[in-house]
Amino acid sequence: METTIDVEAPFRVSDLKQWVYCPRVLYYQVCLPKVRPVTYKMIAGKEAGMAEEGREQRRSLKSYGLKEEGRREFEVPLLSSTLGLSGKPDMVIWLDATREVIPVDYKLSNIAGEHFKLQIIAYGIMLEEASGYTAKRGFFYSIPKRKAEEVKIDKRGREKLQHALTEMHRVLRYERMPEPTPNRNKCLACEFRRFCNDVL
Ligand code: SF4
Repeated sequence: METTIDVEAPFRVSDLKQWVYCPRVLYYQVCLPKVRPVTYKMIAGKEAGMAEEGREQRRSLKSYGLKEEGRREFEVPLLSSTLGLSGKPDMVIWLDATREVIPVDYKLSNIAGEHFKLQIIAYGIMLEEASGYTAKRGFFYSIPKRKAEEVKIDKRGREKLQHALTEMHRVLRYERMPEPTPNRNKCLACEFRRFCNDVL
């Protein structure tokens, strides 16, 4: 299937994860979108997220350390022309009494790495824009550990996001291939390894 770039929101929130992993992955995705392989990991992640939604319906908000009453909404479509991003958080918790909004993302990973955190921060800011509620935290939910970990949506996180987006838009505009990741171990499991002749 051919991938087209949306001018209003050229990036998906999941592209942030790729950017943190290796900026070159993003380059391949946006500049050579037809070559993107679909990996087993991508399919497994999607299926596990859907199964988790069923379990979530039976979970109390106490699993997130929340004592307040909240509404849950799943797979909320978001688009921000300000950030140039679109995406769908797995779940959103709305605390109407305090006008707070909390994005939650389910992951097959045990660890809330920087790449996952940046995605959650982006969802929080997009939710703020869309609703007028405040996003000051989100949750990374580890499916294997069945545990939620809080992710702060603070000034530092917001600046990190802005910096990443500025660089990503630069790659898109100039179609210039970024340097490879300094951590070459990442290349061993990379879906784009066959395109990077200078790393292995
Ligand atoms: S093979 Fe290595 S340098 Fe190339 S895109 Fe993958 S992680 Fe980045």
